[in-house]
Amino acid sequence: MIKLSQACLNSEEKEALIRVIDDLYLGMGTEVRLFEEELKQYIKREVVCVNTGTSALHLAMQACGIGAGDDVLVPTITYIASFQAISATGARPIACDVHPNTLCLDIQDAQKRLTPRTKVIMPVHYAGQTHFLEEVYFFAQKQGLRVIEDAAHSFGGTYQGLPVGAKGDVVCFSFDGIKNITCGEGGAVTSSDKEVLEKVQDLRLLGVQRDTEKRLSGQRSWDFDVVDQGWRCHMSNLNAALGRVQLKKVDFLSQRRKQIAEFYQQTLDVCLPIPLKENVPHIFPIFVQKRDALRSAFLEKGIETGLHYKPNHLLSKYRQGPLKVAEEKYPLMITLPLHPNLTDENVYFISQSVIDFLLN
Ligand SMILES: *Cc1c(COP(=O)(O)O)cnc(C)c1O
Repeated sequence: MIKLSQACLNSEEKEALIRVIDDLYLGMGTEVRLFEEELKQYIKREVVCVNTGTSALHLAMQACGIGAGDDVLVPTITYIASFQAISATGARPIACDVHPNTLCLDIQDAQKRLTPRTKVIMPVHYAGQTHFLEEVYFFAQKQGLRVIEDAAHSFGGTYQGLPVGAKGDVVCFSFDGIKNITCGEGGAVTSSDKEVLEKVQDLRLLGVQRDTEKRLSGQRSWDFDVVDQGWRCHMSNLNAALGRVQLKKVDFLSQRRKQIAEFYQQTLDVCLPIPLKENVPHIFPIFVQKRDALRSAFLEKGIETGLHYKPNHLLSKYRQGPLKVAEEKYPLMITLPLHPNLTDENVYFISQSVIDFLLN
């Protein structure tokens, strides 16, 4: 079976994990400190690591003071994590429609959904795209909103010539098992707002104030104060050690994703047109009339496909709408395999299988 997504690992990651096990310190320590430093060098801004991308979003919002009584604008086409992270703070996710050319947040639609309670806009870098962010920031500045970017799909890409995360209000990454780089599970928050980052540092360690420095040098706080509801969301040395190896390979991993996506784009005219110069594609959506038939035909051929994503406003917990573009696009969407382990032959076979399906 050709997998839809897959981590790309070898003996280097194995050795890194063995090193941590031999060290007998599995918690948040030296590996996490080094991973945060190496991420900072790569992104060119201070980074705080947490256990998942969902926690990164949740803690970032809490650190910005978002909670019950607040509204957050978010595109309906995203992983359920974006919505759950918002509602975890007590805030209300306001589902917005997406732009047909990008499937990213449609600002005209977001504008219509502003309320006096709106505090944050959460653009999602769907499939790795960042070029739509300029209008998001223009809008947010005009309306006085904070921007918390769900950059779970875009690690390794660029925005305005700099690494994703180098600019922007608050930017959240995921390093889960199938993301552009993986820690097994992991996430990170970056920002120029020192207060937000310091708050996230405390919130990830059950709200224990300034515990981070102690932990990173292999100690703990025994006499401490807590003022906020915190969470157990720090990263472990095991996950960080894996992430450090992956970060060294980020250019190779990104290039391979781009190469594969470029081939799909050159051979198929049903693709979401992700601009590949700036962006590292995380998923590869295409639009076809009989997507369920394509899915079964592909399964028979040994090709796994995905669906990114069912619009969140159609879920019972978040029912809103109608949202016209998302509802029109959703029945046509299907995602082709995209990960660095795909061989050229795999990619030709997948592309040819789409062409054959469309001709039938
Ligand atoms: C993966 C993902 C997340 C959450 O990241 P986890 O590390 O899996 O918690 C959030 N948003 C989007 C769009 C994602 O793809």
